[in-house]
Order: sequence, then structure tokens, then C-alpha cells
Amino acid sequence: MAIERTFSIIKPDAVAKNNIGAIYNRFETAGLKIIASKMVHLSKEQAEGFYAEHSERPFFGALVSFMTSGPIMVQALEGENAVLAHRDILGATNPADAAPGTIRADFAESIDENAAHGSDSVASAEREVAYFFSTEELCPRTR
Ligand code: UDP
Repeated sequence: MAIERTFSIIKPDAVAKNNIGAIYNRFETAGLKIIASKMVHLSKEQAEGFYAEHSERPFFGALVSFMTSGPIMVQALEGENAVLAHRDILGATNPADAAPGTIRADFAESIDENAAHGSDSVASAEREVAYFFSTEELCPRTR
């Protein structure tokens, strides 16, 4: 199995509801190791840059507004097949479609306030981890 890194955000809705620890517990139970973590309050420019691939979508303005509405937690996670393993425990984008027991099924209210983000590929994960963390901030734990 390949050891991969992926990127996670606990979004403003879940931070506001004090669900940081509960969601971290899901990562650790799934065998994903947190190798970097911090709380940030995104500027409009940071949120627009992070979600640039969605800039033409109708929900882009609302997404940027939501993601800048309060602090978020950003994490780099490491583990076996981390990208897919993390997407599995995250659940579908719309919590109404998310499998029971997933993070979005248990902690999200709606498709636009859906509790957490997870990279969708190894390439996205590399870009997203680097968007928030310098190499010096990453503490690999799989050696
Ligand atoms: N989103 C939204 N409305 C939609 C689709 C997406 O507000 O109709 C938001 C939602 O927060 C989602 C993010 O845009 O998590 C990125 O969308 P994507 O399709 O990449 O879903 P994800 O990879 O987050 O499951």
C-alpha cells in the first residue's frame, strides 16, 4: 500500500459547533496521522485562490463568503492510500447523500455548509498542502 499525504479543512460551520476534536478522532480512528495542523481565518483572496478551479461555478461567491465567515482548521494527513481513505470517511459533498457514519453525514447541515474538505487526488493534495504549509511545518510520522 502506498503511503500518501492528503489535505483536510474543518470548515467554519464545524469549528463554530466545537466539532474539531470529534473530527480529529475520525482521522485517527481511520489510521490517518496528522502531520501538520493550524487554525486560520481566511482572507477573501486566500479563499478565492484555494477554490480557483470553481471560480466559474454559480456557488463560488457563496462558497468564498462561507469559507471566510469564521476560523477553520487546516491539516496535512498521512497514511496508507490517504487521499481515498480520507474521502471515504468524509462522505459525499451533499450530506443528504453521505453514507451513515461519515463526517459529512454526522456533522454537516447542507451541501454549501458541509463541515469538511478533503483533497480529491494526490495532485490536488500536493497543491493544497503547499498552499497552507511550508516543508518545515510538515512532521512526517511514517519513517
Ligand atoms: N459546493 C456548494 N454547492 C454546490 C457544490 C459545491 O456550495 O452545489 C461547495 C461545497 O462546499 C463543496 C465545495 O463547493 O465542498 C467544493 O465542491 P466539490 O464539488 O469539489 O466537492 P468536494 O470535493 O468538497 O466534495
